[in-house]
Amino acid sequence: MFGLIGHSTSFEAARRKASELGFDHIAEGDLDVWCSAPPQLVEHVEVTSATGRTIQGAYIDSCFVPEMLSRFKTARRKVLNAMELAQKKGIDITALGGFTSIIFENFNLLQHQHVRSTTLAWERFTTGNTHTAWVICRQVENNAPALGIDLKKASVAVVGATGDIGSAVCRWLSSRTGVAELLLVARQQKPLEELREELGGGRILSLEDALPEADVVVWVASMPRTLEIDTSRLKTPCLMIDGGYPKNLDARVAAKGIHVLKGGIVEFFTDIGWSMMEIAEMEKPQRQMFACFAEAMLLEFESHHTNFSWGRNNITLEKMDFIGGASVRHGFTTLNLQGLPQAAV
Ligand code: NDP
Repeated sequence: MFGLIGHSTSFEAARRKASELGFDHIAEGDLDVWCSAPPQLVEHVEVTSATGRTIQGAYIDSCFVPEMLSRFKTARRKVLNAMELAQKKGIDITALGGFTSIIFENFNLLQHQHVRSTTLAWERFTTGNTHTAWVICRQVENNAPALGIDLKKASVAVVGATGDIGSAVCRWLSSRTGVAELLLVARQQKPLEELREELGGGRILSLEDALPEADVVVWVASMPRTLEIDTSRLKTPCLMIDGGYPKNLDARVAAKGIHVLKGGIVEFFTDIGWSMMEIAEMEKPQRQMFACFAEAMLLEFESHHTNFSWGRNNITLEKMDFIGGASVRHGFTTLNLQGLPQAAV
């Protein structure tokens, strides 16, 4: 069985959902009530792959909301409690979605393997980052040519280049896609220099200097809400892959010739009878989902019960090949720009 741990996009959205599900006492509660609410297994689902294989899954709402991010202990407790519930329900492989994987990594939850009487078995969990990285790379490869951008001559800026997803994207784009130039953007210099050495190329630039040079920008960093982008300095056409969470680039860079695509989103070949993606505000919630969630489904389809994506900067090209192959085989496609001719996937 596969599992997905997620959360609502805001406190208000969470209250609405709780009310719909009949959890009235918590729906009416204030943020303090929600801080002490336990995780809920809200939905079971059965999914059949394009190969005909059928698997069972469950969605666990961690009862975390982004408004709790500044409450360090609460955020930590929410993620650990949701993981404990997944394990107690006997789920073999569970993806940490939305902010939960960020909390896991940034708050170093590896040090908290014991939750009450449960010892968390790490091999039952995955961040889903390998599939996310592969999907973002395919989105670059499919959509840049559709805009007339020849990747062999293009500059691709990766914002968050030294991160888990960003470094994997850089590895793939430099060795598999053969982009003309990678522009590496992050705040800390030392990891950037180490990455450039590993890649055997790439130019380290500040965000401000990279943007006007880029034909494609891959955003894989959680950027501050206050970030402003001067669209008059961007190239046209420019493809922007919004791979961060939450996804909020399109409102900031709405301008002629700037094409924003939600990054790390996949679509299943057929409707899935679930309601869980409604809270993630997908355009087609019956088919679309975050690639990290889909990774848990893929590992279950493949009976590959292991913490496939784990820790930082462990994503290899071989792992991306494996999960990408499984993604295509079981019936997922990457989200693409609408109304443009697409290169063959
Ligand atoms: P990591 O924490 O591993 O990496 C974050 C990267 O961003 C680092 O390179 C960091 O470097 C850089 N960074 C952070 N802040 C800034 C800034 N202000 N300016 C420039 N660079 C910055 O994160 P992950 O790779 O795990 O995840 C990256 C993003 O992808 C997150 O926003 C996450 O939510 C999102 N994500 C999306 C998914 C999906 O949509 N399907 C699935 C999983 C994750 P430095 O600290 O040196 O600046």
